Amino acid sequence: MSLDVLPADVLVLAVDVGGTTTKAEVVDGRSEVLASGVVPTAREEAALESVRTLGRGLIDEAVRAGHGRVARAGVVVPGIVDRCRRVGVYSANIGWRELGLGSPLEAAWGMPVLLDHDVTIAGWAEWQVGAGRGCDDVFFVALGTGVAASIVAGGRLLRGGLAQAGEFGHVVVRPGGPQCACGGRGCLEAVCSAASVARAYATLAGRDVAGGVDVLAAMGDDPVAAQVWTQALAALADGLINVINLLSPARIVVGGGLAEAGDALLAPLSAAVAQRITLVPAPDIVGAEFGARAALVGAALLARRGEGGQEGDS
Ligand SMILES: [Zn+2]
Repeated sequence: MSLDVLPADVLVLAVDVGGTTTKAEVVDGRSEVLASGVVPTAREEAALESVRTLGRGLIDEAVRAGHGRVARAGVVVPGIVDRCRRVGVYSANIGWRELGLGSPLEAAWGMPVLLDHDVTIAGWAEWQVGAGRGCDDVFFVALGTGVAASIVAGGRLLRGGLAQAGEFGHVVVRPGGPQCACGGRGCLEAVCSAASVARAYATLAGRDVAGGVDVLAAMGDDPVAAQVWTQALAALADGLINVINLLSPARIVVGGGLAEAGDALLAPLSAAVAQRITLVPAPDIVGAEFGARAALVGAALLARRGEGGQEGDS
């Protein structure tokens, strides 16, 4: 779907359907948030109903408050997405298969709905208006419960011939290593996602932690946390070296929940990458500007621009 760019005074609805929660906002052309809401993401096909209800509520709230008309919606979802048919093809976390989202949401909300992939659009937003701005070759990596990437090369967002480019989490960095949810072994996601880091820590330390960020926070005085984190960073650096050799990005933008650790993540990661560089120049490695909000910012941009992927006025 490709539509005209909306004027700044027209409102859009942005929805980010995550594995745990679904977040939505009504925003204006200056990115001011006029209404927002969060609900738990329902499992499988029931997720559609929770998205529909959340969106409807925010659209009505914006009208009631006199903010004006919401004209278009951008919805981003995880997993395998067919943005042309506007179908969630598969999400391991949510459990849906071949779930049509675009048409039923369009009918319920009474406006055009664009559907796209969450991390692809998060990276696109960072490139257009965030930490990758002004750079034609950006590799965006989202380190959260899972690991995925968004690639900008030569000033274009790479979709891939079969439209699923960016599954960086399933690049094998530890052959024969830990089992991955995809069915493979030793994938980056099985070693350095927030969930994998927390799991590795629980196994070695004999006690659970809430998430990967907690392991990172404990590094200073917990040798097990330091060991788990060092191993995860080494795997991530090995994965990034492959990307650097293959694409030579000028900038690597690190986002997702783990990136909230800031320099505690970026400084040792930059050092681990620098240590492994042999041929090509080392790119800058920076934190994402929008953090965990990048996908939501991207969904709003997607709705406003009427398409996602091309460079445009920002
Ligand atoms: Zn995998």
